Amino acid sequence: MSSYWCQWAWLGGDTATADVLLQTSGGLIVGVLPGVACPADAVRLTGVTLPGLANAHSHAFHRVLRGRTQVGVGSFWTWREQMYLAAARLDPDSYHRLARAVYGEMAMAGITCVGEFHYLHHGPGGTPYDELNAMGEALAAAAADAGIRLTLLDACYLHGGISADRRHVPPNEVQQRFSDGDALSWATRATSSLALESPMCRVGAAVHSVRAVDPASMQVVATWAEAHDAPVHAHVSEQQVENERCVDAYGLTPVALLAERGVLSPRFTAVHATHLSGIDIELLGTAHCTICMCPTTERDLADGIGPAMALRDMGARLSLGSDSHAVIDLFEEARALELDERLGSLVRGSHDAPSLLRAATVDGHASLGWPDAGAISVGSLADLVTVRLDSVRTAGATDASMLETMVFAASAADVHHVVVDGRVVVSDGAHRSIDVAHELHEAILDVMSDR
Ligand SMILES: [Zn+2]
Repeated sequence: MSSYWCQWAWLGGDTATADVLLQTSGGLIVGVLPGVACPADAVRLTGVTLPGLANAHSHAFHRVLRGRTQVGVGSFWTWREQMYLAAARLDPDSYHRLARAVYGEMAMAGITCVGEFHYLHHGPGGTPYDELNAMGEALAAAAADAGIRLTLLDACYLHGGISADRRHVPPNEVQQRFSDGDALSWATRATSSLALESPMCRVGAAVHSVRAVDPASMQVVATWAEAHDAPVHAHVSEQQVENERCVDAYGLTPVALLAERGVLSPRFTAVHATHLSGIDIELLGTAHCTICMCPTTERDLADGIGPAMALRDMGARLSLGSDSHAVIDLFEEARALELDERLGSLVRGSHDAPSLLRAATVDGHASLGWPDAGAISVGSLADLVTVRLDSVRTAGATDASMLETMVFAASAADVHHVVVDGRVVVSDGAHRSIDVAHELHEAILDVMSDR
């Protein structure tokens, strides 16, 4: 058994609790004892300790675009062309090297579980690798190297988009790498990816989008997820053009189409959900879906501001993702949810600090199929993140302002100790096994060939 003594710990309420002794055994929290002096044999965690953070939406390879796509005038669609150039360059070995560094960056930011929305399945031209899930295996190995949990959301991606004449068009040359050809072939491959499951890895499903998956195929994905009791995610209404094409082709918004095909349920997470109608909000809320907002990406891509408060008030849960990794900082994503809402509504205080922390922890984990993680409680997985209270950003916090300081002022750089599955992954702000900055530099320049 291991013991950690927390100067402060957030146990899920409206304030942090002082002097908390945590006992872990076999990767689980087995004791939570508030108001205890630090025993001699306990690891002393100075600052405030939170449950591990869940990054509910990631495309690991997008990390190579940071700083390279923030130039010139453009849109989501012009950014996507640059993203496709990067996708075309990866193979299982280079993706493993890149992803292990990206997941290392996540670990250092306090992210102990990532939902990898994975669609880069095949080789150039769509030729399958000898090992059908070679890319998924590379991602699972990368997460294991970095010491964080992974939910591999195996995405179905079959079409290149919906054309103005209301048809799904074939995938282009890069998109061929994403496609299994048809939904049953996707399901066969997704079933084989279940072999990757372990105590640190779970497998879920994804409908890439209404652009890439036709209605009959999204039904196959939903049925697969239900049969395997797995989470299912989809990009939803990130762009208005997507809504317009969907309505033209099917007479339904993307949310209404997903609802008609049986995708909406508590196991479903709608990623982005930016441009929604009132009926869309009602459908997602009353089905108790989770919404994964990715505010730093949505800002970067000029997507817009999603109706987070309205969705929450209608019954949806909220989670957070760094998506394209313009930055990897769940504190920034959390405060952006509230601050963007302020800009849109001209009202302050729609999402308070405890509710934003719940989005970053327990609700994010639940959306990734880890209902046993994301809380500091007896029986939960032993994933802990300790944040400094003596940095230039966090100094001055008091008992009453601690959670607000975390959410509205702390950054990933303030994370100094991370435990995953009862093992120390980050200590004194450094990753225990990966030189993350060096490996990021090498892997990114190798992929982008721009040394
Ligand atoms: Zn995405």
